[in-house]
Amino acid sequence: MTASNNVKLKPGDTIGILGGGQLGRMLAMAAARLGLRCQVFSPDPDSPAFDVVLNATCAEYADVEALELFANDVNVITYEFENVPAATAMVLAARRPVLPAQKILETTQDRLVEKDFVKRLGIGTADYADVSSVETLRAAIKKIGLPAVIKTRRFGYDGKGQAIIRDGDDLTRVWEDLGTKSAILEAFIPFEREISVIAARSVDGQVESFDVTENEHRDHILKISRAPAQISDALAAQARGIAEQIATALNYVGVLAVEMFVVAENGGPKVLVNEIAPRVHNSGHWTLDGASISQFEQHIRAIAGWPLGKPVRHGEVTMTNLIGDDILGYEQWLTVPGATVHLYGKGAPKPGRKMGHVTEVSPRKK
Ligand code: AMP
Repeated sequence: MTASNNVKLKPGDTIGILGGGQLGRMLAMAAARLGLRCQVFSPDPDSPAFDVVLNATCAEYADVEALELFANDVNVITYEFENVPAATAMVLAARRPVLPAQKILETTQDRLVEKDFVKRLGIGTADYADVSSVETLRAAIKKIGLPAVIKTRRFGYDGKGQAIIRDGDDLTRVWEDLGTKSAILEAFIPFEREISVIAARSVDGQVESFDVTENEHRDHILKISRAPAQISDALAAQARGIAEQIATALNYVGVLAVEMFVVAENGGPKVLVNEIAPRVHNSGHWTLDGASISQFEQHIRAIAGWPLGKPVRHGEVTMTNLIGDDILGYEQWLTVPGATVHLYGKGAPKPGRKMGHVTEVSPRKK
């Protein structure tokens, strides 16, 4: 294993990025502004990130020879998605520092391990239970009550691999439809709002977080993010404190996102952690145009062993995702005063596919 705490890139060095989607593309663009090169590894020849880098490796994540050649070409390796196979990370980590570290993936790839980790830190989550059969599902419902949400432990995203269970539902059917042997049942949280915190931690332990973001989903996919979230300063400080505590406890290097629910309580609203994403995150895209430093640059600085920026927000920011056919309206967005349009260079729009986003900033009042 190569040590991560002595990573210190110089301008001109090369960062390896696993994954070639829009997150990899925006990471590579941020790196270029800092004089750093990127090489993208992705099995998909149509990867949008390939368009913005000079060197790309188009190979499967299980292709050891391609991974070794890729590692030889770069100084440090990062990733834009959390489901990097353990074997892939191991091959790479034997040759170059992989940041965030491989062991973080073990925590964040499994919802049960992740929730246990968050709970051990004394941070609130929805009540949850391990489920591995219809019988254990029944027992979990007895403990947690209904409605509840069942989620696969691994590989869920954008609402995939989960279902709400209500009184009277056929549990055998629910379990079969989920199609897995390992799941968790969570209490259904009647949240007031969904928020997220994007935080970064540097190689030497500096931690910085962005202002809290408020997120609106449509069909389980993020549609609009607004910063700052309409919550009290005290609650915002609590949310940022939680994300920073998680980053430190994981000994994390890079940017992470922590998704949270705000719930009403007798003593005032409180936050519960829903999920940790060990990467840059869609709810942080507003930082590209709405803050002095973006989440992408912050991640690049962290994994380069450079000091983090102290982000200053430029005003009230709204980020709107262009999903599927929304992209067909891009010319209209181009004419909206003050709007900044980002198109990811993807091929055909498909329902649910993130094709671009638009940021609008209303300047802070003097
Ligand atoms: P996740 O894949 O865990 O991020 O969940 C996707 C979305 O489903 C969240 O953003 C929430 O809108 C909703 N959701 C997930 N878990 C719960 C829960 N325990 N209670 C209520 N809604 C939930």
